[in-house]
Amino acid sequence: MATDSCEDAIAGLQYLLSEKGDLEDIAAEKIKQLTAELEAIAAKQFNAVERIKTGFAHFKKWKYEKNPGLYGELAESQSPKFLVFACSDSRVCPSHILNFQPGEAFMVRNIANMVPPYDLQTKYSGVGAAIEYAVLHLKVENILVIGHSRCGGIDRLMRNENCGSDFIDDWVKTCLPAKAKVRRECNSLDIDEQCANCEKEAVNVSLENLLTYPFVKEGVMKKTLSIKGGHYDFVKGSFELWSLDLHFGIHTYYGFIASV
Ligand SMILES: [Zn+2]
Repeated sequence: MATDSCEDAIAGLQYLLSEKGDLEDIAAEKIKQLTAELEAIAAKQFNAVERIKTGFAHFKKWKYEKNPGLYGELAESQSPKFLVFACSDSRVCPSHILNFQPGEAFMVRNIANMVPPYDLQTKYSGVGAAIEYAVLHLKVENILVIGHSRCGGIDRLMRNENCGSDFIDDWVKTCLPAKAKVRRECNSLDIDEQCANCEKEAVNVSLENLLTYPFVKEGVMKKTLSIKGGHYDFVKGSFELWSLDLHFGIHTYYGFIASV
């Protein structure tokens, strides 16, 4: 039932109750009960337009209008320090988990936070365009790829990569090398533990893939750009951070940075 219908019904019942003073007690009681039930339904109705309006009103009142200096600066330009890859999962927004403020992080979010390798033949390379813009034009100093616990995309990759989807199966195969590595090295673990391992290995595949973009590799070699991997565990409430470095511009190695 739409919210408007609920409200109309409630109004009708209240009118009936106020006008018909001679209603039997039982009928009046029944109307009160129905009214209460309808009010409960109306309260539970999700109204997308209202949610968007109240969300923006809250942001405008408590953030935008409280920080005219910041938003005035951002109206002119942006110079974020980070390019961040994160999963589209609604629980892992980097602005929330890392407290990024407006202007701090240029972001790409997709299924399982994957970075495909450099490929000029890809017709719709939203990922390539974002990396190119962030590195060459915004001159970000850091690229951070964040994996997360209980990732549905990684689960799909590990358990069943051919479910007949239009896009998902092909997309998650971007990190097939991570699956192969986990299958090879963690075969004794149960599938949930393998998935947890794959969440981090898939980040590493993406970090290695970043180096296939010539302008990323150049930045890393010149040390104007650093590449980092992260993993957010929303079950434990923890975050791990590591780096991908290059030896002599050829061999890659990972360095643990922090666990929070
Ligand atoms: Zn995910």
